[in-house]
Amino acid sequence: MLLCYEEPLYRPPSEANNLILQVTIGCRFNQCSFCSMYKHKEYRLKSIEDIQLEIDRVKQFNADVSRIFLADGDAFNLDSAQLLEILKRLQAAFPKLTRVSCYATPANISAKSADELALLKANKLSLIYVGIETGSNLLLKKITKGATQNSIARSLKLADAAGIKVSATIILGLGGHQFWQQHITETVALLNAAPVSYLSTLQLYLDKSAEAEFIDKFAEEFQPQSDADILQELAQLISQLRPVKKIIFRSNHASNALALAGNLPKDRDKLLAQISRVMNLPDRLRPQSSRSL
Ligand code: SF4
Repeated sequence: MLLCYEEPLYRPPSEANNLILQVTIGCRFNQCSFCSMYKHKEYRLKSIEDIQLEIDRVKQFNADVSRIFLADGDAFNLDSAQLLEILKRLQAAFPKLTRVSCYATPANISAKSADELALLKANKLSLIYVGIETGSNLLLKKITKGATQNSIARSLKLADAAGIKVSATIILGLGGHQFWQQHITETVALLNAAPVSYLSTLQLYLDKSAEAEFIDKFAEEFQPQSDADILQELAQLISQLRPVKKIIFRSNHASNALALAGNLPKDRDKLLAQISRVMNLPDRLRPQSSRSL
């Protein structure tokens, strides 16, 4: 076997054609109430010897690898020296390497100095995926994200200053019926103040193993948003975004009722028109049975 994955293995949709190299197992934080991805994995770093073995195996079959995603959920939690060691080994094995990427959290971005971030970028770690979920401090607390609007903004600015691109995700429906306006208004405020290169939406989808924890931590009755409500959130988000730099926007993840793609602010009117066209046509939305995480 070329690569010894410890399942389940998750990666962003945009990394589908790239090499996925598991350098950590699980998520060190592992406390977000809506997330069941790594609940059954104990976080640990794979040994550098095991990582090197896998690099060597891949290299025998394909030395032309150009893009690599470092799994699992929280590879950016590694300290800078550990990450640099891995990046140097990857560059030595794959001369055509152009980009290394991984998931990151606001806390583990901010734990690195500006110089460390710049050094990681100089060694090809040029894209990080950050689940910001919402800009609302109330909701960030309810989902036990371990971050605030300010701490997220600070981390996004740090990454941007180092030249590391951020692909951010937010979760539509996260505030339920009670807090949806606060969710969107404060998420817009965050995104209008802090730079991201890519922005994607997920639609709240609670796995059976996460549902009880999410409801419990929400600490009041959670009233789920309907698809029509979600489209209203999406329209408000797109209409109010005034990003500090151009954003490539996608809602193509399988959890979304409506798949959209465009650049903001250039395609704002086109995207809003697409939402408006399906607002009262539920049969034009992705069927519930086809949605997943
Ligand atoms: S959402 Fe990300 S940071 Fe939170 S528990 Fe899941 S993998 Fe970890």
